[in-house]
Amino acid sequence: KRAAYAELRDVEPFTRCGTRIVVMMNAGLRDDMSSLQLTGADGVGLFRTEFQFLVSASLPQRERQTRLYRDVLDIAGSKPVVFRTLDIGGDKMVPYLRSDGGPREENPAMGWRALRLALEREGLLKVQARALLEAAAGRELNVMFPMVSEPWEFDAAKDVFEAQLAFLKSRKKQLPDAVRYGAMLEVPALAEVLDQLAPRLSFLSIGTNDLTQFLFAADRADPRLAGRYDWLNASILRFIQRIVGSLIGYDVRLSVCGEMGGRRLEALALLGLGITRLSITPAAVGPIKELIRKVDLNELKPAMQAWLASPPESMRDELTRWASERDI
Ligand code: PEP
Ligand code: MG
Repeated sequence: KRAAYAELRDVEPFTRCGTRIVVMMNAGLRDDMSSLQLTGADGVGLFRTEFQFLVSASLPQRERQTRLYRDVLDIAGSKPVVFRTLDIGGDKMVPYLRSDGGPREENPAMGWRALRLALEREGLLKVQARALLEAAAGRELNVMFPMVSEPWEFDAAKDVFEAQLAFLKSRKKQLPDAVRYGAMLEVPALAEVLDQLAPRLSFLSIGTNDLTQFLFAADRADPRLAGRYDWLNASILRFIQRIVGSLIGYDVRLSVCGEMGGRRLEALALLGLGITRLSITPAAVGPIKELIRKVDLNELKPAMQAWLASPPESMRDELTRWASERDI
């Protein structure tokens, strides 16, 4: 199998019906970047910048952040990288940021985390913005904001970047060739106001890890709940179906970057919903490319529509049967 996946490294993942699916990988550390070559992924669809903070004993200074981002872009070469701004807080708290003696949180995943924290500790976001903009001088920069819950949060975060951009410009520094801003959709509330946010977005990435936990009110870190709600259930799939529908007519690149996209049947379901961009764990790139090449969307999409209109008892069983009948 491994050898077969290695052979797929340089093969572009087209479906049987000729649709090019973009298969990117998730990363978080410099070391992860070697997987880009190894797997032949199309780029990094989610670079989790908080990892550098999580493995550091103290706050990484701007120079260290810049160095990491520059190295990542160097390694990626012509392939795109989407940098997600800090998603600390929740289950990823770093001790050196708790010095304000804030209250102990009962539900940290729903607490003061990610963009919520970054917009209040603006210094943190400013430094990161500066580091990213400097690292991407003369190249393209893709910035993605985590846990956006209301459109104004996206605007406020973007403003921080634009202010840093203006500063660098006034200093006659070399700027990125282009800066694109996107959001993660992992808080269900955002899906209800996508019409307001979409005109301002370059891209949107569905984070199915957090989305599932919020949609089902089920802690993703609780092992007793780990297998409780299947990704292949009508609530999740219909939810994603609606997001896909909400973006029709807008020039927004939609992707899925949660763990869901790296699993065979789940990826199949996403393709059936019209998702054409995935960002997945590096080990899944080979297997998912192989899957894509066996799929005919002209068959899968109508089947998916029918299942979602009238959900079968078990979507997992239904998809398993459908796939095995087609040697997928
Ligand atoms: C997600 O929530 O699906 C996601 C990709 O982000 P993280 O797993 O880092 O929270
Ligand atoms: Mg998340």
